[in-house]
Amino acid sequence: MTQTRHRIRRPRLTGAYIGLTALAIGVTATASTGISGRGQSAAGPVATTVESALAPCRIAGTMGVQMSEGMPTPPGYSRSTGEVRALNLMIDFPDAKGEGTALDRLAEFFPQTSDWFRTSSYGRLAYRAEAPIRTWLRMPMPFAAYGIERGSSYEPGYRQLVEHIAKAADAEVDFSRYDLINILVTPNAGPSALDTVLSVTFSGNGEAPMADGVPLSNTSFVYSRQDDGSGTYRETGYRVLPHENGHVFGLPDLYTSDGGNTVGHWDIMSEDWGANNDLMGWHKWKLGWLDSTQISCASKSGTSDHVLTPLAVEGGMKLAFVPLSESVGYAVEVRTRAGNDEAVCRPGVLVYKVDSDVDTGHGPVTVSDSSGASGGCTRRPNVHAELSDAPFRPGETFTDDKAGISISVVGELRDGSYQIRVTRP
Ligand SMILES: [Zn+2]
Repeated sequence: MTQTRHRIRRPRLTGAYIGLTALAIGVTATASTGISGRGQSAAGPVATTVESALAPCRIAGTMGVQMSEGMPTPPGYSRSTGEVRALNLMIDFPDAKGEGTALDRLAEFFPQTSDWFRTSSYGRLAYRAEAPIRTWLRMPMPFAAYGIERGSSYEPGYRQLVEHIAKAADAEVDFSRYDLINILVTPNAGPSALDTVLSVTFSGNGEAPMADGVPLSNTSFVYSRQDDGSGTYRETGYRVLPHENGHVFGLPDLYTSDGGNTVGHWDIMSEDWGANNDLMGWHKWKLGWLDSTQISCASKSGTSDHVLTPLAVEGGMKLAFVPLSESVGYAVEVRTRAGNDEAVCRPGVLVYKVDSDVDTGHGPVTVSDSSGASGGCTRRPNVHAELSDAPFRPGETFTDDKAGISISVVGELRDGSYQIRVTRP
């Protein structure tokens, strides 16, 4: 149930990353009573028509896949729209006493993380970060005694740690008020993130310890600092937290445990180091940040045209999807340097394959590179270079000969949108 990842980076910076999620079994709902921000729900004949036209594009999850790209996200994860309350607890240990103040640690992640979600969700996720305890919460045992290492499972170390956290905080915290929990560990506990990234999320874990009547089932742990001296940490070091919270909302890891890089910097679930980046349109749809009316489903045989507005800009048609089977399809979207996407060096039309049969950390998404082994267009630190020039430009065509699919970029329109043409059997 664990994955490690050896990042593709400059050799001295080689690290490993853990992405670990717990199965959702017998989940007790933890939904709070906050305002539900679900978009205007579909009602009436027009909405029904939109929904049924999209049905072939809503590829579903598969039994046996722990955490998939399928829709809908199974129950047990935190909701991802409306007001989401995040409890932040800063913890330290007798053998690793808090470095600086607990509020300094909090300030490494906020308000940046809340801002990141507001921008990425077009305002649909109102992330409320709270820290009712303003000081370090001291754990009763030394850090080493919990046996937490890269790839550690929930049992027994994390269960014990969560029990100790709940006990230490319970007098001052009502856990039932929150949708998710961020444990911001003092950076001097455990190895440097440059050597081993311990940061991890346990999501949808209905068998987690209880506090105030709710299981602490969606919990992200952030360790150390991803500060490689390249200068990006001060600006973008917080992004490990939106990545971990992505798991709390049900998103899988897009990097692969064997070091393969199938997505590059096109999604924060793939790369959360270096320059800021956004989520893919597929993830935004899955999270409820795009409406059904913003998805164009190319399920019928023949040729169809789709006009897409840049993903980073609010409003308009965002995603075309070409389903190949009940679990696989091509997603098409426009990526530009705007919003959270600051490292885009070749704006254009990104084409990627989504496969809901492939589990987290095994490559559920694969970006098609328009330019082959070009070396990419970016030299920014911690941005996978090869895929940085993946988008297709006007006049270029993606083809999948085996499936008989072609996706052409007809042109860029004056308002910045792109016209694409899909041909399928
Ligand atoms: Zn992850």
